Amino acid sequence: MRYNPANIDELIGKVEESSLAEVDIAATSAKQAFINWKNKPSIERGDILRVAADLLEANMEEVAILATKETGKVIRETRGEIGRAAAILRYYGQEGWRQIGEHLPSAFIGKTLYSSRVPIGPIAVISPWNFPIAIPIWKMAPALVFGNTVVWKPSEESTLTAIKVAEILWQAGLPKDVLQMVNGSGTTIGEALVCHKDMTAVTFTGSNQVGNQIAITAASQQKKYQLELGGKNPAIVLADCDLSFAAQSCIDGAMKQSGQRCTATGIVYVEEAVYDSFKTILKNICNELKIGNPLSEVTDIGPVVSKRQYEKVQSYIQKGLEEGAKLVCGGQPLADGYWHNGYYIQPTIFENVKEDMTIVKEEIFGPVLCLRKVANYKEALEAANSSKYGLSASIFTNNLHQAFHFIQHAEAGMVQVNGETGGAEPQAPFGGMKASSSGSREQGQAAVEFFTEIKTVSIQT
Ligand code: NAD
Repeated sequence: MRYNPANIDELIGKVEESSLAEVDIAATSAKQAFINWKNKPSIERGDILRVAADLLEANMEEVAILATKETGKVIRETRGEIGRAAAILRYYGQEGWRQIGEHLPSAFIGKTLYSSRVPIGPIAVISPWNFPIAIPIWKMAPALVFGNTVVWKPSEESTLTAIKVAEILWQAGLPKDVLQMVNGSGTTIGEALVCHKDMTAVTFTGSNQVGNQIAITAASQQKKYQLELGGKNPAIVLADCDLSFAAQSCIDGAMKQSGQRCTATGIVYVEEAVYDSFKTILKNICNELKIGNPLSEVTDIGPVVSKRQYEKVQSYIQKGLEEGAKLVCGGQPLADGYWHNGYYIQPTIFENVKEDMTIVKEEIFGPVLCLRKVANYKEALEAANSSKYGLSASIFTNNLHQAFHFIQHAEAGMVQVNGETGGAEPQAPFGGMKASSSGSREQGQAAVEFFTEIKTVSIQT
C-alpha cells in the first residue's frame, strides 16, 4: 500500500511484492537475454534510449504528479528531475555512436593492437526513493547502451513511480527481458537479487549501512560493485563573497527536497567578520520558505517521504538541542492545521555547533542545516575535511587564490565555487570520496568504467 506523505489518509496505489521465485526467473532470463542484447548494434540500443527520453517528456505531468504524490517532492523539483532523466537518456543514446576502447601502437611489424570495451552481463540496479527517476535512469541508461541487461529493484518508498518509468522504457522498445523489475523489501528481494548467481554486478545508491552489506556480499562472490552512499556536505562562506547570493545558495542546498539529497548542504562554515550579517540573511530567507502541499506550484518545502524518515529527522533535531546547539530558526513540530496529516518538518537551522555533535557528524537527510563561525578559511577547510564523508563541497568567495586552493584541497568528489553543494550535469562524473562512494564514478564517460570490461586484442598479419 502506498500512501501520500502529504496526506497519510490518501491511498495512492498498491504494489504487488515479487516472490523469491520471481527474482530467480528475472535473473535467469536477464542472463539469457544478454546473449542477444550484447550483439545488437550499440546504435540501435541507443536509439531506444532516445525514444524513451521523448516518451518520458511527453508523459511529464503524469509522472510528475505520481512521483510527487508518492514521495512528497515538490512538483517543480519533480519536473526538474524528469528533465534531467530525459537528458541522461539522450546523452547515453548518443553513446551508442561513439568509439570506446583505443588503438595502440605495437612494437612488432605487422601487428595490430587495440583494446575494446565489452559489456559485463546482467546487472542488479538497486535504487533509493529520493530521486526515484533520475538515479535509476543514470544507472540503467549506460548499463543498457553498453550492452548489459538489467534487473531493477527500486525502493519500497517509490515503487509506483518506478513501475511507471519502467513502462515508459518498455514502450520505447526495450525488450522486457532486457530490463526487468522486481519489487519488495531490501532485505528479502534486494538481497536475493544481489546474491543471485546470474547477476554479474551490482550498482547501488542508498545508505552506508546497506551499501556496506552489499559490498561484503558482492566481494565474496567476485561480483563487481559500485556504491553511491551518504554525504554531509560543507559550504564555506568567506568574507569577500556576495553574502545574499551565498545565503540563498546555502538555503537551496540545504532545504530543497526537504533536505533529502545525498548532496544537500549539511553545514556552513562562515568567517567571523561576516557571521552575524550572513546569519540574519540566512534566517530571513529560511523563514520565507513556503511549506505545504507539494503539488502546489508555490510550495518550496513538502513533507519528508515517510513516518520513519519523519521520526529520524525529528530525533536529530532533538539530539541537536540536547547536545547544546542553539536554534536560529525552525525546530518546532508542524502538527496543526494543514500539516497535521502529513510528514512535514519545519526548515531548521542550528548554530553553536561543535565538531563532536551528532548533528555535525551524521547525515540527517532532512531540512536541517548547521552553521558554524570560523576564524578564517584555514579553520573552515580543516573542519570541512574532518567529515568521514566526501561527496560535495562548496566555497563562496571572489578570491581566486583561495578558490583554487579549495579546489585542490577539499576532500570531496564534486567541488563548487560560488554554487550550492550538489551533483553534476549528466555528462560529468558523479560521485564522492571517503565514505560517500565506492567503486567507479557514475554519469558521463566515467560510467564506461563500471558497465564494461576491457578486452585487449592483438592481430598479427
Ligand atoms: P536504503 O539504503 O535504505 O535503501 C536503498 C535501496 O536498497 C532500496 O531499494 C532498498 O530496498 C534496498 N535495500 C535495503 N536493504 C538491502 C539489502 N540488504 N540488500 C539489497 N538491497 C537492499 O536507502 P534509502 O533510505 O532508500 O536512501 C537514502 C540514503 O541514500 C541516504 O543515506 C542518502 O545519502 C543515500 N543516497 C545517496 C546518493 C548518492 O548518489 N551518493 C543519492 C541518493 C541517496
